[in-house]
This record gives sequence, structure tokens and C-alpha cells, in this order.
Amino acid sequence: MAAPAANLRINGERLWDSLMEMAQIGPGIAGGNNRQTLTDDDAKGRALFAEWCKAAGMAMGVDTMGTMFATRAGTDADALPVYMGSHLDTQPTGGKYDGVLGVLGALEVVRSMNDAGIKTKHPIVVTNWTNEEGTRFAPAMLASGVFAGMHSQDYAYSRKDAEGKSFGDELARIGWVGDEVVGARKMHAMIELHIEQGPILEAEGRDVGVVTHGQGLWWLQITLTGKDAHTGSTPMAMRVNAGLGMARITERVHQIAMSHQPGAVGAVGHANVYPNSRNVIPGKAVFTVDIRTPDQGKLDAMKAEVTRAAHAVAAELGLGIEIEDVGHFDPVTFDAGLVSVVREAAERLGYSHMDIISGAGHDACWINRVAPTVMIMCPCVDGLSHNEAEEISPEWAAAGTDVMFHTVLDVAGVVA
Ligand SMILES: [Zn+2]
Repeated sequence: MAAPAANLRINGERLWDSLMEMAQIGPGIAGGNNRQTLTDDDAKGRALFAEWCKAAGMAMGVDTMGTMFATRAGTDADALPVYMGSHLDTQPTGGKYDGVLGVLGALEVVRSMNDAGIKTKHPIVVTNWTNEEGTRFAPAMLASGVFAGMHSQDYAYSRKDAEGKSFGDELARIGWVGDEVVGARKMHAMIELHIEQGPILEAEGRDVGVVTHGQGLWWLQITLTGKDAHTGSTPMAMRVNAGLGMARITERVHQIAMSHQPGAVGAVGHANVYPNSRNVIPGKAVFTVDIRTPDQGKLDAMKAEVTRAAHAVAAELGLGIEIEDVGHFDPVTFDAGLVSVVREAAERLGYSHMDIISGAGHDACWINRVAPTVMIMCPCVDGLSHNEAEEISPEWAAAGTDVMFHTVLDVAGVVA
């Protein structure tokens, strides 16, 4: 089958109008959105999306996790569908594009196919994954995680929000418990368009990011125990300072990440000292080390080095130490064939592009375990995300969606 014509584009204005209309639902307090999962506003957003899918001639299916699957038929009833999608739920102080661009961009691809009278061999499915953000019900990427077999549905249903309401009860309350068994769908491929949520594409002046990998990560919570003592009257030689231990380990984490360049990062982002008083030497410090890299070998090495360094610092200062694993994702390698298709699409369309690694978790990272998957990234201003000030340009949104358009046509097979 021939490649799609280079002048074939989505309707950027219609895409932008839909993004702005969705952003009216669950507005934030500073120009962004608060459309958290399984709230009344989430239900309103779902209803609007469902109405748009119906108007575009698609049939809606919903699974028992509330994930929405809108299908545009293909010419071969036996061919597995090509999926596009992301999430419509937002952070409590979220932006208008995180997730939403991937869902409404996918819808725009179908609308553009309708406009051009394009038929494909494989059916096309536009998906809205439930609870990607994980703020209201931890963990993040919950429905795609159940779909990929990472969690059981019982576990998902039992997750509780801050008010003690359960995921299962809230899903039923907003009326989006579907009848499809989660994970029963088989996929020919899955494509997720998402804003970068980082500063690289904008800084490099590129229109599109071709995502080759997703970061693997470890979160290690370290507890150091020393002795609370007066900062004025305790001689230096007699101190057992947990705060000093934390500072040294923080420095070592930075050095370890630097020694594994390129692509490795590490920091202590969360830290507490006790009793946290200005004239008491901290007797206890609790902090979390976050290390990430797309390379499994480097990730294993960094974890071992951080653990070794932390024990050495504790021994040196006479501190008690406990290290607990509190989070872990394996690195993700997206499908090499699909990555090439995305790169070729950007090339054909004349968009500047670069290979990039996803620093954040996405639904695509879980789906990659059960189907060939790829991501396309759109730049965002100052790398700002999970923030109401999150911003992208209409041109960037259109460029990423054009690339998804060409990718899906290539993968789904245009029928002449
Ligand atoms: Zn997102």
C-alpha cells in the first residue's frame, strides 16, 4: 500500500475548538482544569466525547473499568483494530492538554478520515482510559494497568479517595461501568499522542518528538536514625546528625546519576527531618530517592550504587539506616517498527523531529506489554505540566496530530 500523500492533514482549527470546548468542563481556578477521574465533571466530559464520537459515525464500547472505546469500522472484519488514545481526566490543578490532546487528536484523525472519505483495512478505535492521573485514586494509569494485567480489577475497585469513597462505587455512581471484560480486546497496534511534560522539544526547536523509550524508575525511601540534640551545646565530635547523612546521600545520588550519562537522572525530591526545629540537630531523616533511566542495566546499577553509598554514609556517621522500595517501573522500549513509521510520517509531513524518551508514565507504557505500542510527543511551553498554566500552540497540536494521522493510516492500511 502506498504511503499517505504528504499534503494530507488534519483540521487544526477543529481540533483546537474541541480542545477549548472540553476545557469548559471542570474548569480550574487559574485557567486550567480540575476534571478529576469519576467526578461529575468527568462524567460530563465523557458524555461530550461520546456525543462527538457518535457524530463521527463511531460505535462506543465501554469496559468494566469505564474505559471508552469508539470504533470506526474497517473493510476487513477479521483485522485487529488500530488504537489511538490517552485520557480525559486531569490533575486537581491540571492543564487543558495533558491526556486530552491524545484523545481529541485521535478523534480529529477519524473526523479527517471521514472528510477525505478514507477507508482502512483495520478498524480504528479511539480510547479514553479511565483514571490515568491517579491523584484521586492511586496508582496512576489504573485502567490501562488492569487492561495489561498489572493489577486485578478487584484491587482497582477497592482503591479509595481522600474521603474514603471507592473507585468501584464512584464508577457506578457516574454511570460508566461498561459490560466489556477488561483486557479482552486484542490490538494490532496502539498509538498515544501526548504533550512532552518536559522542556526538551521546545528548547531544541522541534515540532514533534518520536518516543523510543519510557524511563524505568526506582523510588527508595531512606530512613536515617541519629540522636536529637541541642545545636548550641553539643560538641561537633559528639553529634549523630541524620540531616547531615541525608545531605551526603543527596549529593551521592546526584553524582551517581551524573556518572551514568547519557539518559540517567536522580534526585531526592521528598525530605523530612525530625523534629524539624531550628535549634535541634535532626535525630531522624526520612527522604525518597528517585532514580530513572530507560536502560535496564543502568537502572539496576544505579539502584545498587545508591544503596551501597547510603549504607556507607550511615556507617561513617554512626546512623541507623533503613531502605524501603516504595515504587518501581521497568524501562519501556516501544515497538521499533512503529517508531520508524512515526519518524517517517514526521519526515514526509516536513515537520522537524527528534527521538525522545518519555520521562513520565503513560497508559502506553502499560499497553506496550500486551500490544505493539508507540508514543508521539508534542512540545509544551517551558516544559510546564500538572499545572493550570500548561500551554501548547495550535500549530504544535496540529503537527503531532498530523503525524498520528499518517502513522495510523500507514499501520491500518488505506484501502483504495
Ligand atoms: Zn497524561
